[in-house]
Amino acid sequence: MPRRIRIEYLQTNLKRIIQHAYRHAPAIKNKLDSVGLKPKDIQKIKDLEKLPITKKTDLIDLQKKDPPFGGFTSVPVHELRRIYVSPGPIYEPGEMDYDELGWAQAMFAAGFRPGDIAINTFSYHMVPFALNMVDNSLCRLKCLTIPTGVGNTEQQVHILKNLKATAFCGTPSFLLSIAEKAEEMGLNLKKDLNLQIGFVAAEMLPESLRSNLEDKFGMIIRQSYGTADIGCLGYECREKNGMHIPDDKIVEIVDPETGKQLSFERPGEIVATTFSKVYPLIRFGTGDLSLLTGAPCPCGRTSPRLVKILGRVDQTTKVRGLFVHPRQVDEIASRYPQISKYQLVVTRKQHKDEMTFRIEPKGDAPPGERLTEKIERTIRDVIELRGNVQWVDPGTIPEGARTIEDQRTWE
Ligand SMILES: [Zn+2]
Repeated sequence: MPRRIRIEYLQTNLKRIIQHAYRHAPAIKNKLDSVGLKPKDIQKIKDLEKLPITKKTDLIDLQKKDPPFGGFTSVPVHELRRIYVSPGPIYEPGEMDYDELGWAQAMFAAGFRPGDIAINTFSYHMVPFALNMVDNSLCRLKCLTIPTGVGNTEQQVHILKNLKATAFCGTPSFLLSIAEKAEEMGLNLKKDLNLQIGFVAAEMLPESLRSNLEDKFGMIIRQSYGTADIGCLGYECREKNGMHIPDDKIVEIVDPETGKQLSFERPGEIVATTFSKVYPLIRFGTGDLSLLTGAPCPCGRTSPRLVKILGRVDQTTKVRGLFVHPRQVDEIASRYPQISKYQLVVTRKQHKDEMTFRIEPKGDAPPGERLTEKIERTIRDVIELRGNVQWVDPGTIPEGARTIEDQRTWE
C-alpha cells in the first residue's frame, strides 16, 4: 500500500473502533469523556494526541475498581472464549475468533510457509502469547504446530529430531539452551536437526547471539516485538533493518512527558492503538522506548519501522522474558526487617540473564545462611524468577540508587 492510502486505511479503522468502543467499552467512553471529547473528534492519527495514555499500571488499577477487565472489553464476559492472566495481575479477554493479523505477518516475513512444522516453546498457561497469539497465527499460515511450551530441553531436542521440525518459536535464550543441550547429546545441529527459520520474541536479541545461532543451526532468525495486551507491534523482514509495523495497529512514538507525537527518527515511548473489537485498547502506553523510520525498505513493505527497542521509560525491566517491576522488589524487601538497603542488579552471562539482590543488613549481626535462602525463596515467589542474594557492607549501595539496576549490554 502506498503511504497515503495506508494512512487513510488506518484512519478509517481508527474512526470505526473509536465509535464502537465508545458505545460498548465503558473505559474508553470514560477516557473520551475525561477530556470532553466525542468519537467524531477523533478523525486522524494526529487527533489521538488529545486522548490520555493508558499505562499497564492504569489497567491494574482500573481492573481492581471494575473487575474483571476494568471496562476495556466491549463484549459480555460469557461471550469470550478464554480469560488470560498476565503478571500484575492483569486479566485479558480471549476472543472466540482470534483475528489479529500482526503475528502472522511477522512469521510470514520471517519465512514461515504452509507445511512448516514448528515447535512453539512459549509458555502455554496463564498468559495469552503462546496459545492465543502464536498458535493461532501458525494455524492461519497453515503451519503445523507442536505445542511444546517452555522447558524440558532434552525432550525438545528429541522432538526436533524425530519430527524433523523446520521452525522454532520462542525466546532466543531458550533456543541457545536447546543448541547447548543438543551439542551435549552429541548431535550435529545442521545435519541431525532440520531447523530453518526462527521466530523469536519476548527478549532482546543481541546481534552476536543471532549470528551465533544462525551459524550453529544453519537457520534464519527474525525477531518481533509486541505486548501481551495489544499483540504484535513490529516485526523484522528478511532485510533485518528494523521492525515493520503490522497493518492492524497504529503505533505512535510520543514524548513520555507530554504525550505529543514525535516525528520520524526521534526517540520516545511506543504508544499503540488496536482495532480489536473485543479488547479495544486505545493509546496504550507500552513503557518501551524506540524510534520510527519511514525510509523505504528494500523488501517492498511500505509500513514504517521501529528501529530498535532502546529501553524502558520507567525502571521496569524484562528478565528472561518476564517483566520485573520496582514495586515487586520493594515487596520482597518489606517482608524482612533485617534489610536496611537493597537493590536488584540484572546482568547477563553467556546470553543468560542473572538477577542479584544486593542487600545491606540492618545492625551488626551477620546475616545467616537460612535467612539468605528464605529471601531467595521470596524472590522466586514474588518475581517468579530465580535470583541470588548478595550481602554487601553498609554504604555500598549509593544514596538515590535505582531499585533495579540493569547492567546488561546488547551487542
Ligand atoms: Zn522490510
